[in-house]
Amino acid sequence: MQPIGGKGLSLARRLYTSRTLGLALGLLCVAPAVLPLEPPAWLLLLMLFNGVLWPHLAYQWARRSPLPYRAEHRNLLIDSLTGGFWVVAMHFNPLPTAVTLSMMAMNNVAIGGVRFLLTGIAAQVLGMGVGWLLFVPVLIPQTSQLQMYACLPLLTLYPLALGWICFRQTFALGKSKRELLALSRTDSLTGLLNHGAWKDALEVEFQRCQRQQRGGAIALIDIDHFKAINDTYGHVAGDIVLRQLSKILKQNLRASDVAGRYGGDEFCVILPDVPLARAVQAMDALRDRFSGLGYEQNPALEVSLSIGLAAFNPMHADATQWLNDADLALYAAKTTGRNRVICHADGLVQRVALGSV
Ligand code: GH3
Ligand code: MG
Repeated sequence: MQPIGGKGLSLARRLYTSRTLGLALGLLCVAPAVLPLEPPAWLLLLMLFNGVLWPHLAYQWARRSPLPYRAEHRNLLIDSLTGGFWVVAMHFNPLPTAVTLSMMAMNNVAIGGVRFLLTGIAAQVLGMGVGWLLFVPVLIPQTSQLQMYACLPLLTLYPLALGWICFRQTFALGKSKRELLALSRTDSLTGLLNHGAWKDALEVEFQRCQRQQRGGAIALIDIDHFKAINDTYGHVAGDIVLRQLSKILKQNLRASDVAGRYGGDEFCVILPDVPLARAVQAMDALRDRFSGLGYEQNPALEVSLSIGLAAFNPMHADATQWLNDADLALYAAKTTGRNRVICHADGLVQRVALGSV
């Protein structure tokens, strides 16, 4: 058993609910089997303490412990030990004995798997040993009707409660898993897809274009002289520029377009079902809007974009070839003066930008 977050406080809270319910129902199940045996007063007090007070004490004990997880581990073993003790105290009355031992086993296996189940059984045996030393061990092989009815609430309600707690935990785990997955696919600075997630989307788009014989384009977008922006205005200003670009991408693209941060100052976009000419228009408008942005903190800051576009080509063997075409076009945009859109189509790199240097 390994601690899972919150140093075990959430486990302590969960067990507080289930222990309060389980031991109250356990008292209802054990008392009718113990009372006819005319137990001494201390045993009655112990039974009340175990059934009513112990859950609260156990919770406070775990809560105040520096390691609540370990404290709950100990509390569960105390539960098993007292369970074994009550089995002897009611002289092995069959139904309450089976119900008490099996409910505790169910609890232990749910919390800590087979290993903890076995440790719990050892604690139950130890508890029986303590009982054996205190009482004359007598076997009562019968359960009266009243004793049987008294076991029913524990037998029915406790598994229901435990099942509900497990369900809620599974649901919360599923939610955390989905959130973690989303986080692992998101670029933390810009909120766009990160490199890996965007490449996955590109792969999907490439296969869709191949299957459906449809057109589409991808764009690689790079901020010009971004290193100089960082050097002149600082990295915080550089981060603001990166966020502005992601904002402009989110605002100006269609819902079906997929934007990502390829890495550093390079961004990437998938534009499905778009003829190259329209993609050029869209990217040039984006380039234009971005270079027109003002920065309150640094009014002198000027930024521009170089954009390489590539249309889907059925001759591409894979998505990497498609991406290489966009990369070639971006390289051409950089080497022919920056602040422009260049596209790669039919094996040719062409400047078709509407804007200019
Ligand atoms: P070019 O016009 O050829 O693209 O030149 P450039 O200066 O934009 O390109 P270069 O690749 O030399 O520099 C990119 C810089 O981006 C270098 C790196 O320090 C910076 N960078 C990468 N990631 C981040 C980031 O998250 N925040 C900031 N502020 N800078 C970053
Ligand atoms: Mg750059």
